[in-house]
Amino acid sequence: MTVDRRAFLAWLGTGALGAAASAFPASDAEAAGNVTVLTHATLIDGTDAPPTRDATIVLAGDRIAAVGRGVAAPAVVGVRVVDLRGKFVIPGLWDAHAHSSTLKRTFPPLHLVNGVTSIRDMDGRPETHDVARAIARGELAGPRMVIASEILDGGNSFVDVHRRVGTLAEVRDAVRDAAAVHAGLVKVYSFMSPEIHAAIAAEAHRHGLPYGGHVPIQLPVQEVLARGQHSVEHMYAFHASTSERRDEFYARLAGLPADTGTWPGALAELDQAAVASHNAAMTQDLAGRFTACRAWHVPTLAVLSRMSSPPRELPHDPVLQGLADRYLPRSIRQEWLDMATGWPEWPPERIAREAAYFEAELQLVGELATAGAPVAAGTDSGYLYTFPGFATHDELELLVRAGLSPHRALQAATRDAARCAGRPRSGTIVAGQDADLVVLDADPLAEITNSRRVHAVVSRGTYLGPPERQRILADVERAAHEDVTPGTGTPGAHCCLRRIG
Ligand SMILES: [Zn+2]
Ligand SMILES: [Zn+2]
Repeated sequence: MTVDRRAFLAWLGTGALGAAASAFPASDAEAAGNVTVLTHATLIDGTDAPPTRDATIVLAGDRIAAVGRGVAAPAVVGVRVVDLRGKFVIPGLWDAHAHSSTLKRTFPPLHLVNGVTSIRDMDGRPETHDVARAIARGELAGPRMVIASEILDGGNSFVDVHRRVGTLAEVRDAVRDAAAVHAGLVKVYSFMSPEIHAAIAAEAHRHGLPYGGHVPIQLPVQEVLARGQHSVEHMYAFHASTSERRDEFYARLAGLPADTGTWPGALAELDQAAVASHNAAMTQDLAGRFTACRAWHVPTLAVLSRMSSPPRELPHDPVLQGLADRYLPRSIRQEWLDMATGWPEWPPERIAREAAYFEAELQLVGELATAGAPVAAGTDSGYLYTFPGFATHDELELLVRAGLSPHRALQAATRDAARCAGRPRSGTIVAGQDADLVVLDADPLAEITNSRRVHAVVSRGTYLGPPERQRILADVERAAHEDVTPGTGTPGAHCCLRRIG
């Protein structure tokens, strides 16, 4: 049904919603094809404001037109009014570190039904851009996407699926290619020399592109921040960099052999050893550097929790197994199973050591966050039993376990992740912002696991209620049970190194 726009504008113009309404130009309302008004919800808007009870949220096309308290729904032809009494509305969630969006009938829709309306895909390939365009055209169900460059790694990286850049000319070509496809950032990996990392930094700067990703193994975190790295993922080197023995550790890492296959084990050993010499003042200082450099800490606790569990037990976890059986195409299911069972059995002391180290990682996230380091929620979804969408709720829960308040954790997955991704028009429910929201059945500030109780998702102004979400999930299940070829760029090309040792 078409919207009676004149009547809608007259209602907006009554000033019932206060000054917020005027932030929405009439021309945008004219252009908006669909108008949805959500009423009587408790609003958690992603800013520092306390929740607003009995809020009205007006969505016109892909914009939040107005937000206010206690306003009656308009009696306007064509406007969809949804009474959300008893529900909680939060901004659409972000996964600031996702992979394998090219598995297009599975991963993008799983993000969306879980309320993840935007992602930063950290391994951009030509097919990734195709998927993003298909989503933007409305042909595929999925999140908005900010897409990184291909993963750049050093010339002697042992990881063969990344683009190796071993010379300055190769760095120039790779960053130019990233700029040509409008990559949202240049993605850097672990196995490059400090010189190549510096060259990528300079070249990205020349093109006006941020760069982010791993900390190259021979550099402490402080150094990559000083070089302007925009986001630092996974907490690799965070303990080595906040240890009283940091300089000694980095002298050892500077002398690593040319075979980069030995590097992850060397760093993991030092990171774990560094817990005993962890220094609170260095942690405070590191948090201050994140703030001063406007850099983002993206701990990806969801994947770290997987990596700290005995790999051979992952396929026996009933929750993970249930999700895999239901939603994963057979080929991916088999690939994850092969990866999990391909690692040697962990002896009991290894299991205990990894579990203790994960607790230390949680503690460090809490210390950095308390000291003011900007945190963005990412998960490494698409990698080994880290399920798109579901993993973002795991990440929220883990951030709270690490010591963030539920409010701050939600901001990490909304406003702050949007800022990290360079999309400030996303992540808050304020007039003029993108029309991406999640409607929850229960209060996530009272208990963060309530973020899993998704009732509806609004993506680009389209309200996906329970029947629409069920339909999308049924499509994912259908895709899983058809013997589809998942195409290239699948989890086989995963990015993340495991703590080998
Ligand atoms: Zn990754
Ligand atoms: Zn990674």
